[in-house]
Amino acid sequence: MEELQNLYKLQEIELQLEKLQQTQKSLPVIAEFKKLQAETVRAKEKLLRAKSDFAELCKQQKRLEHSLQRNEEEQKAVHNELYKGMNHSPKELEQLTKKAEILKDEQREQEEKLLDIMEKRDEQEKNINTITKRYQEMRGSLLQLQKSGKAELQEIRSQKEKLLAERQLLLQQISPALIDEYRKRRKQFHGRPVVEVAGNVCSGCRVSVSSLIKSSLRQGGKNIRCENCGRLLIMR
Ligand SMILES: [Zn+2]
Repeated sequence: MEELQNLYKLQEIELQLEKLQQTQKSLPVIAEFKKLQAETVRAKEKLLRAKSDFAELCKQQKRLEHSLQRNEEEQKAVHNELYKGMNHSPKELEQLTKKAEILKDEQREQEEKLLDIMEKRDEQEKNINTITKRYQEMRGSLLQLQKSGKAELQEIRSQKEKLLAERQLLLQQISPALIDEYRKRRKQFHGRPVVEVAGNVCSGCRVSVSSLIKSSLRQGGKNIRCENCGRLLIMR
């Protein structure tokens, strides 16, 4: 009979543990923490994307600057050809003039592109600064929240530890077969497969138990179940 009493205690402890688990999960500070954590992760991803966009713009800028430099050198060469006073045929002159015009056009086009890229780069730089600031603020709030949540969590954890220790002791005093049986029926009876007979009533289903069952319980009978609901019975 004592084994059953211990099983009953075990059941109550496991119910308390589940309740604490639930409380812990639904702590406002935990929900807030999770939300902020997700936002922080998103901000970090945004920051990484902005940085990679910025790096790409820098590359484009460099490429254009090089190309503009080449263009300038080519223009100088053509200019020299034209005005060095060398003798060119009219056809050669025409070709050189045409080349100079094309180079000039290319230069204008590239300069416009360069300005556009520099503008975008500046924008992206500002963007990075804004996101970085926001990200750092979030990290700060996250740490703050972690601190304030710690006290609440600590309280729950210490209660849980105490219950877990009690549970461990009880488990050593109950046969594995009975534990097995209890585990199997836990779900069916919403965590309470073992109930007391209080007065003449099964406290699981509130139906009166027969006098036969009562006397069996009084005589220390094991494995006695409520005739109505099938829960394992113990005497109060
Ligand atoms: Zn019952």
